[in-house]
Amino acid sequence: MAKPKRNMSPEKVEMPSQDPKVRARNFKEVAEGYTEEMAREEAQRCLQCKHKPCMEGCPVNVQIPDFINLINEGDYIAANQKILETNVLPAVCGRVCPQESQCEQRCVRGVKGEPVAIGRLERFVADYFREHSEPKPHGYEKNGHKVAVIGSGPAGLSCAGDLTRMGYEVTIFESLPEGGGVLVYGIPEFRLPNDIVKNEINQLKLDGVDLETNTIVGRSVTIDELMDDFGFEAIFVGSGAGLPVFLGIPGENSVGVYSANEYLTRSNLMRAYDDRYDTPIRHSKKVAVIGGGNVAMDSARTALRIGADEVYIIYRRSFEEMPARTEEVHHAQEEGVIFKNLTNPVEILQDEKGEVVGIRCVQMELGEPDASGRRRPIPVEGSEFDIELDTVVVAVGTNPNPLIKSTTEGLDVTEWGGIITDEAGTTSREGVFAGGDAVTGAATVISAAGAGKVAAAAIDEYIKNKNA
Ligand code: FAD
Ligand code: SF4
Ligand code: SF4
Repeated sequence: MAKPKRNMSPEKVEMPSQDPKVRARNFKEVAEGYTEEMAREEAQRCLQCKHKPCMEGCPVNVQIPDFINLINEGDYIAANQKILETNVLPAVCGRVCPQESQCEQRCVRGVKGEPVAIGRLERFVADYFREHSEPKPHGYEKNGHKVAVIGSGPAGLSCAGDLTRMGYEVTIFESLPEGGGVLVYGIPEFRLPNDIVKNEINQLKLDGVDLETNTIVGRSVTIDELMDDFGFEAIFVGSGAGLPVFLGIPGENSVGVYSANEYLTRSNLMRAYDDRYDTPIRHSKKVAVIGGGNVAMDSARTALRIGADEVYIIYRRSFEEMPARTEEVHHAQEEGVIFKNLTNPVEILQDEKGEVVGIRCVQMELGEPDASGRRRPIPVEGSEFDIELDTVVVAVGTNPNPLIKSTTEGLDVTEWGGIITDEAGTTSREGVFAGGDAVTGAATVISAAGAGKVAAAAIDEYIKNKNA
């Protein structure tokens, strides 16, 4: 067979995206995806390395050179099937994985130029598959054993996907009215359209996964009841880390202060940006978002799209330490978000009615590295200043909700509420497994999906041993 053509360009094939000025006022997806020609051209940059270093950077072991080779051969459907062997969420991961610190970081093409655009290619094949094929059930044979999954975020979905493939009858219990977890209520439409997530969930449903929404485990039903009364032989807890952390500064209970979680849920899940829905949200003019992660970037960019004139990111360290994906910081800058780095809020200012009117900040400088390895921010004496505002969004982190722990006998958690597991996702309570943000605290989509897969294998082994 003829060898595929090589493209030795040091740069990735650019992906078209909406103009920053236009997109800053709409919720349509920012990046528009590769065409077939672009995908073929980018795929030709892959050297098909024998030792597959890129795969070492992927938490779910996607067969990267193999799927890229199938793109080279023009068989995009087979390329998608190749990814699906290890990753049930390719259209999602192709969009939101921090590829720059995972698969693409290990790509040899990155040594003398830009790495192969693995994420963009993954997105291309998943989108191609969705647009050119009818979803149909895989017809997995059932083995007669029942497993419950709590939470329908990436951890729960990937655990459910693998268990279904192995023949288990899986029911996912989800407290919200829609499945998808943070993929739907956290990450905004302009980065990850909800329809993409729905499509990936629909495939699971076609394969027999039962999704029970509006069911809060710990309130509607407990883990003990699921096991004792409903015949589930094992449980996977993928309940995420949805409990917001606050700053603990004066004025934080003023009207107009939101947790990022609440702000984004109102916008994404309850469609506050859409005039046809009457979800209450402040249509603010001047907004400050506190934090420097993906959640902060999403909140700031959402505020712009809801109609704010000025949006600030207030972050106590510098760009270098910012945990958000570089691409997201870049996009936020292009859209006009104003970055106030090395700045720490010390008080939220309110008027006599208790409404936010501003924020008092202090300038910071970086000292010696702290336990996280990042340089510790230290306040500069006498550097206080105020910014006039009408809304503050706090995006400084989240912890797991204590509900599951408090209603489950014998489930050990850390002092901040993370469920304690071994590497396979086994908890202190027999038959109960856990993974994703509920275990690690806020992390990434693909690490949660990876944990779901690992736990699915452990659940399979547990049930087989129990019934041996
Ligand atoms: P979640 O996605 O949080 O899902 C948990 C689900 O469990 C939720 O649907 C919740 O409603 C449900 N649940 C909770 N308690 C119960 C209960 N008692 N009963 C029933 N259901 C329950 N990661 C990236 O890799 N790239 C990004 O660009 C990125 N951007 C992000 C942007 C935002 C705004 C946020 C908030 C996070 C972002 N992340 C990103 C992080 C990533 O989304 C999470 O790490 C990931 O979703 C965790 O998956 P999970 O399945 O563990 O939990
Ligand atoms: Fe890269 Fe994420 Fe795809 Fe793995 S799942 S290959 S880390 S984009
Ligand atoms: Fe292709 Fe890069 Fe992986 Fe080599 S390291 S196989 S060039 S994607």
